[in-house]
Amino acid sequence: MSAFDSLRTTLTERQQAHLYRTRRTLGQAQQPETVIDGKPMLTFCSNDYLGLANDPRVVARFQAAASTYGVGSGASHLVNGHSEEHHQLEQELAAFTGRDRALLFSTGFMANLGTIQALVDKPDAVFEDRLNHASLLDGGLHSGAKFQRYLHNDVDNLTRRLEKDQSRRRLIVTDGVFSMDGDCAPIGELVNCAQQHNAWLMVDDAHGFGCIGSKGQGLVAEHFDQNQVQVLMGTLGKAFGTSGAFIAGSETLIETLIQFARPYIYTTAIPPAVAAATRTSLQLVQTEPERRTQLNKLIQRFRQEAKALGLTLMDSPTPIQPIVLGSETETLAWSQALEAEGLLVTAIRPPTVAKGSARLRITFSTSHTDAQLDRLLDSLDKICQQRGLPNGIQL
Ligand code: PMP
Repeated sequence: MSAFDSLRTTLTERQQAHLYRTRRTLGQAQQPETVIDGKPMLTFCSNDYLGLANDPRVVARFQAAASTYGVGSGASHLVNGHSEEHHQLEQELAAFTGRDRALLFSTGFMANLGTIQALVDKPDAVFEDRLNHASLLDGGLHSGAKFQRYLHNDVDNLTRRLEKDQSRRRLIVTDGVFSMDGDCAPIGELVNCAQQHNAWLMVDDAHGFGCIGSKGQGLVAEHFDQNQVQVLMGTLGKAFGTSGAFIAGSETLIETLIQFARPYIYTTAIPPAVAAATRTSLQLVQTEPERRTQLNKLIQRFRQEAKALGLTLMDSPTPIQPIVLGSETETLAWSQALEAEGLLVTAIRPPTVAKGSARLRITFSTSHTDAQLDRLLDSLDKICQQRGLPNGIQL
């Protein structure tokens, strides 16, 4: 027996259950038509919703800042990795979201872990939507606070749980746009519920930020202030096309995170050039609303024509448009059939989603053309003819 035999057995079991995860290698920039594993592919699975990851102005700003600051930040924010570019970006994000302050984290995963752990502890309670992103669930689980999951977007279920709770602090946590379903949290109802039950509300707007709102402020910032949604999280690696994340809120919140959020304190700051490039993205998000208009047109057209093919879609107004196929094997078969047509759409399987709800997760970007959408729809039509219509699973 070698030391890792038991791990090998676990891997084999995962493979046999069609749940094995593999990676692909991108040979060109992140854009709809790119090279993957050496082959030209048309992709519908990126989170680069506004097509900014490869925008020449964002790239030029990155290059210029790298000439000034070098490539790496060299230290954590609290040592000497906090550059002028980070500082300016934080101020701009605070202004953009209408909050007192914003604090940059190296990734969204770390922002969520660090924030929940800094805000609640053993005498407290965390209430999370059961479909929240893994980083929010892990943050709640590892915080030491009493951890509960309420039914998806079900404010009555949440209310009943809050009514029974006697903890010192209570934190409600939700995704803004749910990353695997594409639907939106009922923010207004959650705000009322939190206020009535003396709880704080944290919203992870990773997929709304940049895509939703008249200026792209996301699902929360345009309509709800920091007294209503006390903790607002956004990521920079999706619509903003760069990397990293931030938390926005009151002075007290941000100072608490600087003192106590371990994934903020003990990690290297994102490169200053990434912060600089994000400042350009932030300007473009605000000054080029036509990016959102074009994205919404694509989404609407896809929804109309996919439904006309007989496909069942989820209740999603966002660039995330899953088709739930149910079984892992069927989902893999569809993904492989699309790949044979030169299209990359990832198969999402348990444990990322619940058993029996495996799905194709189609995502759209402003950069997709109508002709590329035609190709996707034609291929879906062809696969429906070959494999039969999926049985319309609605979650
Ligand atoms: N929250 C949500 C809702 C996400 O979808 C993701 C990324 N998939 C994250 C947080 C993590 O963000 P990052 O990729 O910056 O770590």
